Amino acid sequence: MFFDDGDGFVKCSCGRRHWGVHGAAGLLIVDPARGVLLQRRAWWLHHGRTWAIPGGALRSTESALQAAMREATEEAAVPREAVRFTASSIDDHGTWSYTTVLAATRTRVSERTSSAETAELSWIAPDEVDGYRLHRDFAAAWPELRAQLRRSLVLVVDGDTVARVPGTAPGPRGAPRPELTWQELTGLVRDGIGARDVGIGPGPHWRWWPRVELAVPGDGAPTDRAGIEVVPAGHGIGAAEHTLRMADRAVRSGEHVVVVTADDRVRAGAHRAGARTLDPRALRALARATG
Ligand SMILES: [Zn+2]
Repeated sequence: MFFDDGDGFVKCSCGRRHWGVHGAAGLLIVDPARGVLLQRRAWWLHHGRTWAIPGGALRSTESALQAAMREATEEAAVPREAVRFTASSIDDHGTWSYTTVLAATRTRVSERTSSAETAELSWIAPDEVDGYRLHRDFAAAWPELRAQLRRSLVLVVDGDTVARVPGTAPGPRGAPRPELTWQELTGLVRDGIGARDVGIGPGPHWRWWPRVELAVPGDGAPTDRAGIEVVPAGHGIGAAEHTLRMADRAVRSGEHVVVVTADDRVRAGAHRAGARTLDPRALRALARATG
């Protein structure tokens, strides 16, 4: 084998030693039909023969996200375009950290063992994971990860009061438009949002890459533009009503839902539906902080 620049053990302040001089990361992929992709580690590795997610040490130049994806490609031949990142959870020990990146399959993944570090790969139903001989750290993290497996952060944006879709007329409602820009929205899709910043679970060590659904007035088919789904209300339905219907549907399907609106009536309706709300100015501040 050859060594990457992050390879090596760290003697951690927690009293244990961990793999990865710059920390480590792994990718937890869920396929709604097949479960989660786990690998059994080769016998000669630290914690050999146990089951865990594909992952490994960060290189000095990499983000945790990049490292998790690279490792999944190296160890299980998972192509980048086959998954959508939904969230990450960091276990931060101070001197060392492990980031679990959660991803959902977009297309069917044809995994194969593509590294000597992987003895076996298997899709395992979430209910059955506890029956396997798990890596100690993955076993400890699994209950919290499992609860978020099939969830996304959905930002339902009231397109009438918040964002101007390129090429559309201003909305008829009176609230002043903070004019969240397209660039700010796509920046949030790319960089993610801290769970604490939008008041969702399960803890401050979580970060979510949102799906943005932009509720706009008018007719036409929904379109996906740069990760933002533009959803027209349909004939005779106002954007306010449309925003609330979209929020309600997302709450019912179990997502973390944050409605972005400048309209008090929409805000109240969103709370009744079980969604959180965010003022567009607050979202804009988040976009500027990360972008
Ligand atoms: Zn530690």
